[in-house]
Parts: sequence; C-alpha cells; structure tokens
Amino acid sequence: MKLSKSFVPTLKEVPNDAVVASHVYMLRSGMIRMLSAGIYSFLPLGYKVIKKISQIIREEMDFIGGQEFHLPGLNPREIWEESNRVEAFGETMFHIKNRDYILAPTHEEIMTFHARNVVKSYKELPQIWYQIQTKFRNEARPRSGVIRGRQFLMKDSYSFDATWEGLDKSYELHDKAYRRIFDRCDLKYFIVGASSGAMGGTGSEEFMVQSDAGEDTVAYCKSCGYAANVEVAKSRINSIKYDEKSSELKEIYTPNVKSIDELCEYLKINESQCAKSRVYIHNEKPILVLMSGNDEVNEVKLEKILGGAVRPAHTEELKEITGADAGSIGPIGFKGRIISDNQLINANNMYSGANKNDFHIGGIDFKRDVIEIEYFDLRVVKSGEECPNCSCKLEVFSAIELGHIFKLGTKYSNSMGANFLDESGKENPLIMGSYGIGVERVMACFIEQHHDENGIIWDKTLAPFQIHLIGLNMKKQEVVDATEKIYSDFKTNGIDVLFDDRVDAQAGFKFKDADLLGMPIQIIVGDKKLKENKVEIKIRKTNERIEVIIDELQSKVKDLIS
Ligand code: ATP
Ligand code: MG
Repeated sequence: MKLSKSFVPTLKEVPNDAVVASHVYMLRSGMIRMLSAGIYSFLPLGYKVIKKISQIIREEMDFIGGQEFHLPGLNPREIWEESNRVEAFGETMFHIKNRDYILAPTHEEIMTFHARNVVKSYKELPQIWYQIQTKFRNEARPRSGVIRGRQFLMKDSYSFDATWEGLDKSYELHDKAYRRIFDRCDLKYFIVGASSGAMGGTGSEEFMVQSDAGEDTVAYCKSCGYAANVEVAKSRINSIKYDEKSSELKEIYTPNVKSIDELCEYLKINESQCAKSRVYIHNEKPILVLMSGNDEVNEVKLEKILGGAVRPAHTEELKEITGADAGSIGPIGFKGRIISDNQLINANNMYSGANKNDFHIGGIDFKRDVIEIEYFDLRVVKSGEECPNCSCKLEVFSAIELGHIFKLGTKYSNSMGANFLDESGKENPLIMGSYGIGVERVMACFIEQHHDENGIIWDKTLAPFQIHLIGLNMKKQEVVDATEKIYSDFKTNGIDVLFDDRVDAQAGFKFKDADLLGMPIQIIVGDKKLKENKVEIKIRKTNERIEVIIDELQSKVKDLIS
C-alpha cells in the first residue's frame, strides 16, 4: 500500500480527550476516529488489525469444534422478554423508538432461540456456536477509546450440552482456546475467578490485562497465583482482638463528628476500635451492615449473601429508619436485620453511632450488646493483606477484562423452553455456557503493552504491515526507481508492505510517522547509501540498524520475519 494514495490520517499532537496510551496511539496513527461518544469508526489501517485478531480467534474457535454464525444485531424485544433480560439490562440496552425492537447487547437469547425445537436429542449434543459480531450497549460512561464503546465487536460463543460434565468439557475447551488466542496475540494476561453478574450462572472466569486504564480491580498473589476480581476476592484477615474486660455502654457527645477519621481524632482512638455502619435496602427492608474502621462494603458479596439487589438507603430514608443522619448510625437500638463483617466477631470496647445526631456510643461488646447479628465476609480486599491460599501479600491493581467464560447452566433454556430428549427419552433443558472476547479490546490491550514514547510497536502477528518502506527523497529518480523495485519485490514475495512514497514529506516527518505506526521492520532508502548499493533496515522494537546490500534485502527480511 502506498501512503501517498492511502487514507492514513496521522496526527502530530495528542488529541484532547485521549488519556490512555492505546486510545492516543490508535487516534494518532489514523487507525480509528470517533463518530460520537463511545462510537468509533475503524479506518483501513486499524481494520487490518481487527481482521487479523478475528482470524486468530476464528482459527482457535474452529479448532475446538466451534461453528460460525452471524446473528442479527436488531432483535425483536419479545425474545428478550422471555428471559426477563430487558429488565436485567435496564438502561444499558438500546431500544428502537416506537417499535418492538432492541439492539442486541449480547446473543444468549438468539442462540437459544435457534437451538429451541431444533436441537432435539442428546445425539446432537454437544454443540459450540460462535460469531464475531457487533454488540450495542448504552454504556453510562464510554471511555478509553474502544476499550469501552457503545458499539463494539465481540466474539461470542455458546455451548449446548446434555450433561453437566459436558458443560465442564465445553468450558475447558474455551479456556484452552482463549489461552491460545491471547498467547498468539502476544498479550500478558492472567485469569481470575469472577462474579457472573447480569448473565447468571454457576462458574465464571475472566481473562485480564493489568492496566491503569482498566475499570476492573483485581487482587493477585505473585507467589501462589491466586487471582480474583475484588468483587469476589478474599483475604486472610484476623478478627479484632477481644479485650479482657468489656466496659459499660456509654453515650458520648460528639458534635459534628461524622466520619470514622473524625471520630478517631475526636476521641483519640484507633480506627480498629470503630464499627462503621451502612444502611442498605433489600426487598424494601433496611439492613444495617457493620464494617471495621474504614473498610469498604463489598456490595457484590452483600448481594450474593442476601440473594438479590441492594441499594444504599437515601438520606431521608436513613432519618426515617434510624432517627439519625449518616455518620451517627449504629447497631445499638437499630430496628431491623444487622449483618457484620467477620472481623467484628470478637470485638468489644467498640465505638459506633448512637442513632442520634451528634452522639456516639462507646463500650460496645458485640456478643453482649448486639445479639441478633449475622457475620459474613463482606470486605473489599486491600493491597498488602494476606492471600487466602498462602500467607504472601496480595497486590491489588486495575485491569482490563479481555474475555469472560461463563457456565450458564439452564438459565436460558429454562426460561425460554429449550429442551432435548435424553437417552431414556426424558425431556431436559439444554445445559449452556457462554463465552465472550472483546475484539477491539484485544487490539487496545496489545497497544497498552507494546508501545514507547514514539508510538506503537507491533509484532509480526498483528502488525497491519510487516514492512514500512521509506523513500527518503522521492524527488530523486534513483530513489524512486530503487524503492519501486523493492516494493514490487516484496509484493511478489507475498510480504505486506507499507510504502512511504510521499514526495513532499521531509525525512524527519517520515521517520516520526514510521515509529508512530510501528511496523516491525523499517527499510530506509536514501540516495547516499544507494550509491553503495545499500539500504538501511531499522528494527522498530530494538532500534537496531542494519545495512544491507539491495540484492540481499529480500532474503535478509525473510530471515528477520521468521
Ligand atoms: P465490562 O465489565 O468491562 O463491562 P462485561 O462483563 O460487561 O465487561 P461481557 O458481557 O462479559 O462484558 O462481554 C464479553 C467481552 O466483551 C468482555 O470481556 C469485553 O472484552 C468485551 N466488552 C464488554 N463491554 C464492552 C464495551 N463496552 N466496549 C468494548 N468491549 C466490551
Ligand atoms: Mg459491562
């Protein structure tokens, strides 16, 4: 491809709204352009990479017996009502005005629709069906370029099995395929246990890439490899020590003291002597959640324990339920269910709100004073705490989710009535799994992991072109002749080459563009070296420069590529 005739609109400056490296470089290298918030167009160079990633995914899905579909993005809402997911997706689902249609955010329902009444017998199972197709989600905060878009490309696959052991196998196959896909894309990733979220189901794992641009938080143990989304992560933490003597309950005047820090400061006590109170509403009933000190409530854990959605109580509700505002609430005299983090199991001589503004209560002995209380693991794990499997320290960091595998079970086959006949002729619901990869996220994560201050550093697998051929002074006929010959030789040899044949661009400008676009091998052709019949090769990744005689160029490049 010749740059003079191509649409590769590179940018010198960092675009205003781009912060994350992959977003900056995808825009600057002319691979994508934003159409509107969270909606991106892929330009020719960027689309070449998307096609390469898709091809790798396709090969690995075919290898595990996957069959490729192409489902419509425009779906009748009716089908989504069958599984009750119009409600589950809520605002994230795009609806078509005045019509009974939605834009599909994923395709469990549609695949189940195709399996229903068609896959009839255990003899036809297992099946793995996949597609690489556009999804639509009205994300509240689209950001970081294509990492969180409102329209994005997903490889989604669905397995249908007759037995739970079968589902385990289909899940295993996907796990292996995902490892091969991400290995082939040269991504450093790790696998974490996850919460199944709106998808429902029994087991799930996420493939994560560590990155400050990530919106997920992960706890990771370097020594034993334990890794979990903080939504579900555990740590080993001691319960608070029980003092030998419990003092009496006493009400203390604490004017304007609202936070745990203010309370510690005012009473000259330690954070670990304070029980923090949070009121949540679950099934329209209030629940008081107690945490040690400044520990945060893990709402995902809380929802799992309570078996359904929770929300923090509003200011007015707080007043009505407890008689006090946030900051003055506590377990003594609280009417309603009280649950507490495990850490408080043995706690005594504790301080908490008095359910009366400007007052706290001291001397709380949980065993003595808060009788109807239940204890669970409710904490958000923090960096430096002990790993639950070994005693090493956990690291907590941000990560981007590349892919997700779920054991769905029978959630969709039950709600939508997709059954098969087993060996004894009995009707059973199909046992399903669902598995996703964000194709653009693979590209963005690759760039996050492979760039420097000058631009992207592709390796041969995903590079839009293997070679970036630079004609330094295209006003000189000898440079034109030599570069044209090199260009056509590469094409004849089946090597993808991008040719900077622009006549008016200065050398410095061309070098900057070559580093920005980041093809693995640059070939620099200038009139001085040509006099010795030589050209220069620059390896983008190492900056190594090699002079070669033109006659040996093709074989040298072949060696470098392999
Ligand atoms: P997230 O937690 O990041 O919103 P998700 O759990 O909603 O992701 P899934 O429904 O499991 O994602 O979708 C499968 C894959 O699709 C994800 O692993 C991710 O790679 C990709 N993906 C999801 N949402 C987006 C988005 N808004 N933009 C780009 N890719 C996305
Ligand atoms: Mg999401």
